[in-house]
Amino acid sequence: MIERISAVYKRMAHAAMRAGREPDVVRLIAVTKTVPAGLMREAYEAGLRDFGESRLQEAAPKLKELGELGGLEGLRLHMIGHLQSNKARLAVAGFDLIHSIDSASLLMHIDRHALEAGKVQSVLLQVKVSEEVSKHGAEEAELGRMIEAAGVLRGVKVEGLMCIPPYFDEPARARPYFARLRGLAESYGLRELSMGMTGDFEVAIEEGSTMVRVGTAIFGERGYL
Ligand SMILES: *Cc1c(COP(=O)(O)O)cnc(C)c1O
Repeated sequence: MIERISAVYKRMAHAAMRAGREPDVVRLIAVTKTVPAGLMREAYEAGLRDFGESRLQEAAPKLKELGELGGLEGLRLHMIGHLQSNKARLAVAGFDLIHSIDSASLLMHIDRHALEAGKVQSVLLQVKVSEEVSKHGAEEAELGRMIEAAGVLRGVKVEGLMCIPPYFDEPARARPYFARLRGLAESYGLRELSMGMTGDFEVAIEEGSTMVRVGTAIFGERGYL
């Protein structure tokens, strides 16, 4: 586990340096969907603090189990999967950063639950950068409206953008999608860019990613639940 994690960090640092960025500017989020609590605990003990889950119903019991294994201080939880409005309350209760806000109406739901909980919820807006693959994500045209709407909400803070480009055997082909997302973030003055997974995180970092979401390179191939 430690070897895998340090190999990922090394590749991240090299990618950053190739792009003339500081080697430690990018946050590694360990994606733990389908990964059992025990392995998560190992990753935590190896030093990781950011964890990403994509399904609330899977994450909830696991996080409870982790808590029972001994508190995980400094843990930061990221919701990276599609979120339905009726789960907004749970997401607000459990997660530090929600990456997958893809509609103004979901944003409103998050805002309401955050206000109820006395919290300002940090979020990223997920952008649909390609028609083929991602079912989810806001259309670019929708983005401006969402950001404008967020401007008057007191329960949410839009920190940046997230995308999932199509999968390519050749990671460099994802580059235009990452560059596109960075351009959008710049045009709206947003700082955070959640982009890059096991297959393409180096290219994403070269294109300005501030957080990569990596599962397979840390935990191995997923067994599907
Ligand atoms: C599963 C998942 C990842 C991690 O994928 P790997 O290829 O295993 O690194 C990243 N982001 C999202 C949204 C995911 O669902």
